[in-house]
Amino acid sequence: MSGTLYVVPTPIGNLEDITLRALRILKECDLIACEDTRQSLKLLSYFKISKPLISFYSYNEKSRLKGLVDKLLNGKKIALISDAGTPGISDPGYSLIKESINKNIDIEVLPGASAVITALVGSGLPTDGFIFCGFLKRKPSKMKKELVELANLEKTIIFYESPYRVLKTMERILEVFGKDSQICLARELTKKFEEFMRGTVEEVLESIKNRKSLLGEFVVLVYPAKMEQI
Ligand code: SAM
Repeated sequence: MSGTLYVVPTPIGNLEDITLRALRILKECDLIACEDTRQSLKLLSYFKISKPLISFYSYNEKSRLKGLVDKLLNGKKIALISDAGTPGISDPGYSLIKESINKNIDIEVLPGASAVITALVGSGLPTDGFIFCGFLKRKPSKMKKELVELANLEKTIIFYESPYRVLKTMERILEVFGKDSQICLARELTKKFEEFMRGTVEEVLESIKNRKSLLGEFVVLVYPAKMEQI
């Protein structure tokens, strides 16, 4: 009989945001597939969990996939975690989940922390329809093309962005979405310096330009200017 793949979200900052079920699965499984073993060791030692770890991330995903699937087929219980948040959401995991489905291996996905949902709910932007794009393309022309396509959708557009690029990206959003579109920058969610910067694109851009530095992790949420009419 085959084993089970457990997809286990971990906190995106505040360690209290791990569920009781996640802790139980991490204690009961045979093996934990994680992104960076050093990062996961910190989390696991905080919760006094000791388990064999195997790293599974973009650079070794292909070579590790078969070994993990074989273990699952041989009855092992494997918990898949990433450095923070939900595996598979702009993090490794998709290939293992897909291959497990192809091989009829049981999968249990635990609900839990993810920056995208936390940011959306706190943004004050419409939650009834939203598009999550992960990280936008880096090349300016490709990013602009992507933004132009998104700007036609009357939905909340959400993406992840690095603090080093957020200012430039905001300038491109201004160009494409216009100064009156609504935006929210959700920064350092669940952490000490958590902040939601809400307003029009023009207002939020002005406020971040006036800052000495822009540190931390960001989620960017934008809604086209027509929002006033809904
Ligand atoms: N799997 C994760 C999840 O479920 O949210 C996302 C991992 S992705 C590699 C990392 C990106 O997520 C960061 O660059 C940032 O855009 C966003 N992120 C993660 N934690 C965050 C936090 N505490 N506050 C704001 N954004 C966060």
